[in-house]
Amino acid sequence: MSHHPLLDLPPLTAGAFAATERRMAELLGTANDVVITQGEALLPLEGAIRGAARPGSTALNVVTGPYGRTFGDWLRDAGAQVVELSVPFDRAVTADQVARALERHRGIDLVSLVHAEAATGTSNPVAGIGPVVRAHGALLMLDAVASVAAEPLRTDAWGVDLCVVGAQKAMGGPAGVSAVAVSERAWRRLADNPAAPRRSYLSLLDWKERWIDSGRRALPHAPAQLEMLALAACLDRIEADGLDAVIARHRGAADRAREGAFDLGLSPYVTDARDAAPVATTVRTPQGIHAGALAAAALTADPEVPIAAGAGPLAADLLRVDHYGRWADPAVVDRALAALGAALKR
Ligand SMILES: *Cc1c(COP(=O)(O)O)cnc(C)c1O
Repeated sequence: MSHHPLLDLPPLTAGAFAATERRMAELLGTANDVVITQGEALLPLEGAIRGAARPGSTALNVVTGPYGRTFGDWLRDAGAQVVELSVPFDRAVTADQVARALERHRGIDLVSLVHAEAATGTSNPVAGIGPVVRAHGALLMLDAVASVAAEPLRTDAWGVDLCVVGAQKAMGGPAGVSAVAVSERAWRRLADNPAAPRRSYLSLLDWKERWIDSGRRALPHAPAQLEMLALAACLDRIEADGLDAVIARHRGAADRAREGAFDLGLSPYVTDARDAAPVATTVRTPQGIHAGALAAAALTADPEVPIAAGAGPLAADLLRVDHYGRWADPAVVDRALAALGAALKR
């Protein structure tokens, strides 16, 4: 057999796997267990929800973008009663709105929330929401896939019980592995839930039993080796640059994109700049112009720019300039704005 650098690698050791977990924990600001799940971030999101939602329990699902809809479906499917708190997609939810929803439904014992919404360009104030959920006694499940490395994420300080991240957005890493930080309270909830997935690829409890509680000595199944190597490389790069510098790069790109949109005569979709996410800037397309057509024209002007039309109900009127990972760069933002400017002239 001929040698190939992607194929003939030495096995990934349990020690190397555990070391990557510890580095992820550091990045998430947590002393809790971190499981590096061997699949895209939808895997730990579904695993966390199906593990924490007990049949007959009540969950608060905060819907601030398209992922919230999916979480609601999983919660209902897991047998939970779902109270939905939906806000218009052009703004963040407030801690007060969450507090009022919890007061109206005293029995809520789980809250699902998205931190940054890449699809709509908003970011929710988890620092304020976390303590409200904790005071109520509910668990907080946070989808931080689009926020990790783009803005501060303090899992323990904010009281996040299940914090799910992926590496493919601001971390500039691979999409095929992801991670979830699990608090002691969350482990107890999962263990007490007779419907929590067991002997299943969705099972976080299997990881606890077969990996964490047995001393992280042997991996329960063959790891996604290439993706694990890419994740370690991406952590190397973030650590070398410094997390604060990576976050500042995203903030800078977001501010530049928002200013540039105004300069082109476009209205940001997220009206209050304090609600704007550092991963993507969304704009409303001018009256009579379809977002798909405008995005296509911008990509004709410059095929490399990270511009896309909105998805689902936002497909006609919303245009997105992504600035995460390697796109969190003033030169990339300027190129995207130039392409958008050229498209608007046509
Ligand atoms: C990107 C993203 C995910 C991951 O889902 P994909 O659709 O597979 O990229 C999950 N949640 C949020 C909020 C995201 O932005």
